[in-house]
Amino acid sequence: MSTIHLHHVWDYTDVDRRFWEEHLADWVPDKIIDAHRHVGDSALRTVPITEEKKHQYWVNEVSEPVRADVAARCDDIIFQGRCETTVTMGSPSLDYDLEAVNDYVCQESNERGWPALVVSPPSWSQERVAKELSRPGVIGLKPYYSLIGPSDKTRDAHIQADIFDYLPHHILEVADERGAWITLHVPKKERLPHPANIRQIKEIRQKYPNITLVIAHLGRCYTEPHAREGLPPLADDPGLYFDNSAVFNPAVHRLALELLGPERILYGTDNPVFYMRGHRQWKGRTYVNRTNYPFYFNKEREAPEIEAKYTIFVYEGLRTLKEVFENLGMGPERVKAVLHDNAARLIRKVKEAVSE
Ligand SMILES: [Zn+2]
Repeated sequence: MSTIHLHHVWDYTDVDRRFWEEHLADWVPDKIIDAHRHVGDSALRTVPITEEKKHQYWVNEVSEPVRADVAARCDDIIFQGRCETTVTMGSPSLDYDLEAVNDYVCQESNERGWPALVVSPPSWSQERVAKELSRPGVIGLKPYYSLIGPSDKTRDAHIQADIFDYLPHHILEVADERGAWITLHVPKKERLPHPANIRQIKEIRQKYPNITLVIAHLGRCYTEPHAREGLPPLADDPGLYFDNSAVFNPAVHRLALELLGPERILYGTDNPVFYMRGHRQWKGRTYVNRTNYPFYFNKEREAPEIEAKYTIFVYEGLRTLKEVFENLGMGPERVKAVLHDNAARLIRKVKEAVSE
């Protein structure tokens, strides 16, 4: 069969087809939902990407906004027609025309029946938040610390902010009133375990119980030590949800499934980033992505015959999940909960609430 171009520098090849057949075709449920993915349009960029920025952080180099039509085509190819819908958001970055990005995401998502999140800067008034939540197809908000203010040097100028600095109480009040969904990317170099994050997530849950709060990327716990410290303090709240996008570490998935349970975890990809080919390796609290494209960050390449066997990260992630579920003795019902049912249930609940 032929190689199909996906997006940016990524293709879908026979290696991927074989990987799907061998490891995933019998395990992935008939219907799945991707609860965390981005679409956009590079034409909406207002601040050009510099070489300096690309070299700072691997995501800067890999992220090229994917248009909705291309994303839909990629979903079909990658998930072999099993992707029912996707919780869709734009790029939470001040390097883009935010209004235009939200307009684009809302319009495209609404046409395709995708539940959408609007990228919400902390400067929005309560009226503005209410108006955004009334747009057709919008189920909630995607706040992000880089929306606190622009920085031409680094995307992490505000990483040490508190959650309430970029998701302030006046916005939370409206989201609570409307029963909205919030996908929350936690701040701090220490990631989820930072005491301020734990305290503020608990405060949000206590003060704003009508919000469907989904902590993105399992709280940015990409390594086992982060998960061991960050997940237990939040394990006893059955109404707090997590998406597992961008997490590839089996020990982290295992801890999440054991501590939170499969009914509180939503499958997500964070695509288009993980059309990337290769795999991730971990050392203590850090990780490195191995890939076959000569990106600046990709300094330690593996041998060509190993790289030739790389499949897309999405598939590596699914195989890892499969192995963790199997090791835990969790069968198809629980797999379906994480890959489809939890998101379906929450989307339904939020849609009913926000449209009231
Ligand atoms: Zn994301």
